[in-house]
Amino acid sequence: MKVLVATRSTQGTRRSDENRCIEGELVFMLDPCPMSWLDPYGRKCACGRSFLGMSSHQSTTTARVIDVSGLTIEDYEQALAACFIAEGWCWGCFVREAPNMLDDLVGCAAVLPVGAVVERRLDTLQVRRVGRSKGRAGGVTPSPDGLSVQ
Ligand SMILES: [Zn+2]
Repeated sequence: MKVLVATRSTQGTRRSDENRCIEGELVFMLDPCPMSWLDPYGRKCACGRSFLGMSSHQSTTTARVIDVSGLTIEDYEQALAACFIAEGWCWGCFVREAPNMLDDLVGCAAVLPVGAVVERRLDTLQVRRVGRSKGRAGGVTPSPDGLSVQ
């Protein structure tokens, strides 16, 4: 199963980059708050451009797509549940329910190539292109109505 994990790769590409996660830990995304909709680059609140580490409870602006053989959706859900419990959150703490959050994570990772490094702007994940390539990278948008690919 393909999943998103924290990575240091491409950190520093943007001035707003930050990574306090454990390299390779599973990450998830909170829904962007009203502040981050007004400021997607996260000068006031970084939640719309951040991934959160399920183990470290820290944030990163870069995630990598990896394929973890043998990982099941139940394992993934258990990891997210353990993270929520550690944070003192319940499944109902968020606007969007945790199973939907998990569906989005799985759906996004499924359509991205293994090894891709992605960044986030609100509800859109963008593959980072580094080096001389100027082509527009594809993006993936998770939404409550399902996944759409740009
Ligand atoms: Zn926020």
